[in-house]
Order: sequence, then C-alpha cells, then structure tokens
Amino acid sequence: MVRGRRGLIAAVVLAVAVAASAACDGSGSGSSPAAAAAKTGSPTSDWSAGRSHPVVDDMYPQFGDAATDVLHYGLDVKWDPTSTVLTGTATLAVRAAEPTDRFVLDLAADMSADSVTVNGVRVAGVHDGDHLTVPAGRHLSADAVLTVVIAYHGTPHLVPAPMTRPDVPGLGAQVTASGAVWAQQEPYGAFTWFPCDDQPSDKALYDVTITAPDGWAGVSGGAFLGRTESAGHGVYRWHQPNPVATYLVAFAVDRFQQDSATGPGGIALTYWYLPADADAVHRLTAQVPGMISFLERRFGPYPFPTGGVLFRPEMVGMETQTMITFSTRAAPADLLHEFAHQWFGDAVTPTTWSGLWLNEGFAMYAQMLWEAAQTSSAPATVDDLLRNNALPRDQALRTADGPPGHYLPTHFASSNVYYCPALMLNGIRTALGDAAFYQLLNDWVHQHQGTNQDRAAFAAFVEARTGRDFTAYINAWLDSPTTPTIQPPGPAGA
Ligand SMILES: [Zn+2]
Repeated sequence: MVRGRRGLIAAVVLAVAVAASAACDGSGSGSSPAAAAAKTGSPTSDWSAGRSHPVVDDMYPQFGDAATDVLHYGLDVKWDPTSTVLTGTATLAVRAAEPTDRFVLDLAADMSADSVTVNGVRVAGVHDGDHLTVPAGRHLSADAVLTVVIAYHGTPHLVPAPMTRPDVPGLGAQVTASGAVWAQQEPYGAFTWFPCDDQPSDKALYDVTITAPDGWAGVSGGAFLGRTESAGHGVYRWHQPNPVATYLVAFAVDRFQQDSATGPGGIALTYWYLPADADAVHRLTAQVPGMISFLERRFGPYPFPTGGVLFRPEMVGMETQTMITFSTRAAPADLLHEFAHQWFGDAVTPTTWSGLWLNEGFAMYAQMLWEAAQTSSAPATVDDLLRNNALPRDQALRTADGPPGHYLPTHFASSNVYYCPALMLNGIRTALGDAAFYQLLNDWVHQHQGTNQDRAAFAAFVEARTGRDFTAYINAWLDSPTTPTIQPPGPAGA
C-alpha cells in the first residue's frame, strides 16, 4: 500500500522442454494437466501451486480459517451498474489443511449466499455475520480436497478499516456514484465481493471472469485472456498463474479504456483507465518501464509474467498483484513503491499481518532509493533521505503507532511500518555493501517466490547467506519502543 514477461516466452520454452523430456524418457510427464495447459494456453486444473500452510492471523484473527486452504478460486461475477448488484458464482478447490468437518469462509453479511454445494451436493451453509460455514458432509482427513460452489449476490459495502489513515475510508469493494465498483482490501475485505479465506497465509490461484454491460470493462489481475460478447454484455477473463493472497486480488468494473504495452524483457503490460484521465495516466505509464528496470537492477527479474495498472480517480495506491490499483492523482514515487511490492509482499507474502514490515519497509526503502536517484539538481543519497526524513521521525512513530513489528492493531499501515524498517534495511546495506545487500534481497525474493515468510525466516536467511547474525539487530528495530542504538554485526570472523 502507498504510504499516507519474459514469462510468456518461458512458458513456451518450458512446454517444449517438457514435451522433449517426455519424448525421451517416456515418463508421460508431457500429458500432465500442467503440461497440457502450457501447450494449449488454457488454465490448468493442477492447482498444487495454490497449496499453503494457513495459520490463525496474529493481528486480525477474526478473518481466515487455519483449517481451510483454498487452492484455486474460480470467480464468475456479473456487475449491474444500474441496480449495483453483484451476482457471483465462486468455485473453490479447498484442501483440508487439518482434519475437519467444515470450512469457515469469510463472506460479507451484505451478500446473500443463495446456494452452496460440496462436490456437487447441495449443503446447508450457515451465513452468520461475515462468515459462511460450509459443512463438508463428512469428516475430512488432512489434505482432502473438495469443490465448494457458492452462488451469491448483493450490493457491496465497505467495512471499517483498522486504521487511523484518513485516505482509507473503509475496506473492500465500494460502489461509486456513477455505478462503478472497485476494491481496496488490505488487510482484509475481499470478503465484501467474494467468499474467501481472507487472510495472507492462504495464497491461491485464480481464474476470474467479469461480465458487465457493453461500454463497461471488468479488470482483475494476471493474464488478460480477452473479451467476448454475450447478450449485450462484455465478458472479461483473467488468469492468475501464480499464487495470490486475497488482499492482492484486483477488482474493478468501470467505463475503462485499455492500453497495452510491453515492459522490460517483454513483460506484457495492460493499463485500464477512464478516458478523462488519459493525460495523467500517460504521464505515469511512460515511466513504468524505467521503474521496472530500476527495480530489476537491484532485486532481480520482475517476478510475474504480466503487469499493469488499474487507474482510479480516487486516492489509492495498492499493490494488487500484477495489476496495481492506483490513483491518477498520486505521485510517480508512489507508483514505484507499488511496483516494488511485486517483489516484496506479492511474490513473497508475510505469513501474518505482524509481518507487514516485510512489505512496507522494503517497498519504502526501494522508493527512497528511487527518489534519491531522481534528485538531479541537489544530489542526495538514500542515506541523506533517511537521515533527514526518516530518522528524525522514528521515535515519534514508535510512540504513536507502536514498534513496527508490534504495531497497534487499530493502526494498520501507519508510517511506523514504512520508515522504521527502512532504516533497519539501510543499516544492513551499510554493513554488507551494495553488491552483497542487493544479491541478498534478490535471492530472498526469488528463492521464496510464491510462499509466505516471517521475521524468523528472514533473520535466518540473512545469517545463512552472510555468515553474520543480524537477529538482535533486526529484533531491536522491530520491537523496541525507542529508536534503537544497536549496531549491525561486523564482518564474519572480525
Ligand atoms: Zn506499500
């Protein structure tokens, strides 16, 4: 969140390699669903990449269910801008993460759950408040996978955000005065427009189909598979080949215009915006290839096969995976910030919300690196920016919002989780030197892509890669109620 392709070629190469290996060894791997999908370009039914290890969230345990591991969401939603009713069918491939006889999903009370089936059999789901309990109909062993289909409809409404920021009026999908709908849903709120396990530790694959009247366009994330016509409506199909946490699923239906572009290395980019915003949008999108290249030089390849931006007239900056949700009124530095999140937060996602610093500290640091590099008239370094803009605020932020690793639950995404961990990261960079530091973060992302990680994993990774134990240093910056004075450890063996 903003503070206050080579994949397509790779997929073809992979398909050829799989076919070749099958021809050589006769193993039959070439006939796997994944290989078949790679050949045909159609979505696969091999959803193993959507497997997660869900936990009870340590900050917002009221949402999400540790027994529920959704592997894949097939969402088919229709938007009526006149009645402002969303009508959806959600087909979930759900794995029992532990033995259970039911799955507890999140679905806003505003939504009516019209029918629920499990493996094709109608069941009596219990919709109580913002939770929908789906009986499995039998006792499930761990790893059992069921297909849950939920038909639902309703007018989405925002739910209160556990935040003090005035720029976030609420969470979830909101309907605009012109009949558009769009969503911002961190740390939760996806449940306002589809039934889900609404917590970061349950990443899943998605295929999203959005139907809207002619003249309207439906936008989500992943590869845009195209628009088809159906009875005076446009049908927009989106395929996410990489696991996504619920808070990172983009969603908007409006009278969008579309631009397509190609980013560094051939990344397929699409931009969606209202025609009246074209000039502001084009000023921003002209900078996107440079932003991606800037990030790639430090943190390695852009982690997904596609990218894009869904532009809104409202104030928003949200790193929705591969399709950033971004205000036409926001600054280029904020857009760079959201692109940095594609590495930090999207490719690698915190296990729980106490790990928000793993998102915002890194994205803020990347943003400050970029801001330093933009300063042409008065040369500045990231050290200058941190010394002048972050360090003087550190104590006040800890006092107001809590230390960044233990922020107040009602102060989600306050400035403490941005600036304080950015200072910590700069200390690690200073201790290691630029080359080792950037390689460390490059490896952190690309060796953990598609997973959830936490503080202990990060500290262990840093120690394993550098031979230096930064644990006390990291813990002090994340936990101390006062600005730490601890120095990072010296070179190994020194
Ligand atoms: Zn952010």
